Amino acid sequence: MNCPKCHYNNTKVYDTRTTQSGKVTRRRRQCLECKHRFTTVEEVKIFDLMVKKRNGQEVIFSEKKLEQGIRKAFNKRPVDNAKIAKLVQDVIEDVLQASKNPISSVKVGKLVLKNLEKVDKVAFICYSAMFSNFDSVDDFINLVRPKS
Ligand SMILES: [Zn+2]
Repeated sequence: MNCPKCHYNNTKVYDTRTTQSGKVTRRRRQCLECKHRFTTVEEVKIFDLMVKKRNGQEVIFSEKKLEQGIRKAFNKRPVDNAKIAKLVQDVIEDVLQASKNPISSVKVGKLVLKNLEKVDKVAFICYSAMFSNFDSVDDFINLVRPKS
């Protein structure tokens, strides 16, 4: 982010505020050169978001895959759709608030865990048991195929 006054290319963020939707972030910045203070507004569109896997490959963030991963963590236990939908939205808000693009698959996994922990301990344990090994929601889904 260049300073609008002197165009120096290094600024310090000293305050960050994110709207309740998690989709708009305002940052107060100060130029490290001329000390000019200014505000930037960042709006992240979920469809622009990329997820970087451990192998460096980048894939488009998929709400559907996120939901599938969360559903798998419930592993055939009854769970109401509203609960899943709320979890998905909460994770997406956290993902957007992280303001990283690409965001690492590890970070996404941690955000899923953070939200699962609040809602369902068993699903949390199921997800976290796989977490160290999975590299993407896809890999995760493969790991936790429902037992027959
Ligand atoms: Zn400046």
